[in-house]
Amino acid sequence: MDFLVEVEKAKELQNSALSYNHVTSAKLIHTRDIVVDERVRYQCSYSGCRDYGKRFMCPPYTLSVDEFKKVLARYYMALLVQLTGTVNDKVNWEPETNQWALKLHDIIYKLEKEAFGLGFPFAAGLIGGSCKLCTACPAEKDTSARCVNREKARPSMEAMGIDVLSTCNKVGLEIVFSPQEVVWTGLILLA
Ligand code: SF4
Repeated sequence: MDFLVEVEKAKELQNSALSYNHVTSAKLIHTRDIVVDERVRYQCSYSGCRDYGKRFMCPPYTLSVDEFKKVLARYYMALLVQLTGTVNDKVNWEPETNQWALKLHDIIYKLEKEAFGLGFPFAAGLIGGSCKLCTACPAEKDTSARCVNREKARPSMEAMGIDVLSTCNKVGLEIVFSPQEVVWTGLILLA
C-alpha cells in the first residue's frame, strides 16, 4: 500500500477506536517511540506477578524480549489505545478492573480485525495486563496444555517487555493513577 494511503487508513482505524465507549485516547505513533525494556520482563518474572507462568499469553510462554524487538523492527506505525473505567468498589476493586481489562481486550481484538480489512495484513494487537478470557487458564494446571481460545487471546504489551508508562509519556499520553478509575492501555501494530 502507498505510504499516504496507509496513513489515511490508519487514521480511519484511529477514528474507529475513538468511537468505542470508554476509549479515552487513540493515538497513532511511530514504533521507534515504543519503549522496550528488559527490566519489564525481569519484573514480570521475579517481582511477584501473580500471572507469571499461569496464563499462556504471559511469560515464559511468550516471545523473549529480544525476539519481540526483532518483530517490532518490522513495523513502523502503531495505534495506542487507552480505555478509562470507573471503579466503584474501593475495597474489592479487582473484579471491576478485570472487567475493564476484558473490555479493552475486546476492543483491541475488533480493531485488529478492522485493521486487516483496511489493508494491514500484519496487524497485531497487544492488550493490557494478563489475558483474562478464561476464569482459570489451563496453564495453571497443565503446562503442556494449549490456549483454548487462540482466535481471541492476545499477549499484553507488558508481556512483550514494553514499558507502557514510558511509552505513553514519550508520545504525550498521561496515565493518572486514581482510586476511582482504572486506565488500561493496548496497542495495535500496523503493517
Ligand atoms: S484465552 Fe484462556 S487459555 Fe488462552 S491464554 Fe487466555 S486465559 Fe489462557
